[in-house]
Amino acid sequence: MSSSRFRFPRVTMPDAARALRQEVREFLAAERASGGFVPMADCWASGFSAEFSRKLGQRGWLGMTWPRQYGGHERSFLERYVVTEEMLAAGAPVMAHWIADRQSGTQMLRHASAEVKNRALPRMAAGQTFCAIGMSEPNTGSDLASVRTRADKVAGGWKVNGRKIWSTGAHGEGCDYMISLVRTAPADEKARHQGLSQLIIDLKAPGVTVRGIEDIGGQVHFNETLFEDVFVPESHLLGKEGHGWSLVVGELALERSGPERFLSSFIALREAMQVLAANPDDRTREVLGHLVARIKTLRRMSLGIAGLLQEGKSPETEAALVKDMATRFERELIEQLRVVLPEAVLLSSSGVLPRLMREAILRVPSSTLRGGTNEVLKGMIVRQLGLR
Ligand SMILES: Cc1cc2nc3c(=O)[nH]c(=O)nc-3n(C[C@H](O)[C@H](O)[C@H](O)COP(=O)(O)OP(=O)(O)OC[C@H]3O[C@@H](n4cnc5c(N)ncnc54)[C@H](O)[C@@H]3O)c2cc1C
Repeated sequence: MSSSRFRFPRVTMPDAARALRQEVREFLAAERASGGFVPMADCWASGFSAEFSRKLGQRGWLGMTWPRQYGGHERSFLERYVVTEEMLAAGAPVMAHWIADRQSGTQMLRHASAEVKNRALPRMAAGQTFCAIGMSEPNTGSDLASVRTRADKVAGGWKVNGRKIWSTGAHGEGCDYMISLVRTAPADEKARHQGLSQLIIDLKAPGVTVRGIEDIGGQVHFNETLFEDVFVPESHLLGKEGHGWSLVVGELALERSGPERFLSSFIALREAMQVLAANPDDRTREVLGHLVARIKTLRRMSLGIAGLLQEGKSPETEAALVKDMATRFERELIEQLRVVLPEAVLLSSSGVLPRLMREAILRVPSSTLRGGTNEVLKGMIVRQLGLR
């Protein structure tokens, strides 16, 4: 078995990225100090603030790698990595723009019509328009080829009928578009991946209903989205009709590629360190040492993925490997902190750290599901290793 089946190039941060990190840290420290945000666990999936996203847009920290022609800033993937990493490490409320900036915008840049790119991308880069992901349906999750949302050809476009589920952020202020995987030709049992297309659906169009779904903590961050005779113009097709499967695979690589897969609860570790570092016993030292060593390894791999993106690659299996390792780590991180933190901290009803721990405990089980379950990722990894 050859390790060269996975590539994680060693990445050296350019000077521009180091200077940017300092700038981002200063901005975040000032925002937190002035009450611009309170840090939260799982901030990229639960911290919705359209206002905060607009501030990042004004600073040029959204759409960073996109061409200037579409409101982007033509910066490197490593510079973008620095910004996302610092936002996550601070627990900043980045959910509003996360999906548009991470995957939908790039997917549009690669595959959308000129009309859509000119209209939507500059607004996304300014933090004025956000996106949701329309892959899963009731009875369709891991096996995406079984989607049943239908798009029938009509004059000037399609009429869409169906139901998407778990659509993160679709209810949020300014969430205007959902890139949806739909069936544009009947399913053929022998060629299930054919006849699928990706359409950009305007969530404000007549016939769209977005209904919030509460999670275990009572928070609404994802939704059920219904389409009843929704008209979608031809210009909202991504790529070519019937090519939806290869497009969705590319989109999933973007979705799985970032540092949020191991940094969702980092803010809890950071705050916990301040309590634990004062007088650590041997057990605490050992636990913290292991956690930090694993974060360093995951970060090295995750940076390698940013390096591959910079080379113009689509690192599907590297991203699957890191997501599997990273999300298992996230669950262990919270379990380990529960073991070493004093009971008085864990049970306290006030203070930042007890709240972060409560948020993280409730949300971390979803980490190994969202974006593709770990069992499914392992299937991709063993195929890459030639074991099946
Ligand atoms: C917090 C959260 C946010 C989400 N946000 C979005 C979103 O914005 N947009 C969106 O489209 N979806 C979203 N999802 C849905 C997510 O992508 C699906 O939950 C996930 O892909 C699994 O699908 P499923 O829930 O239907 O489970 P199923 O596919 O029914 O899987 C059930 C179990 O069977 C296992 N299994 C299935 N197939 C295989 C296989 N081939 N080999 C081995 N085991 C297998 C799975 O690992 C799992 O344990 C979100 C989910 C969560 C939890």
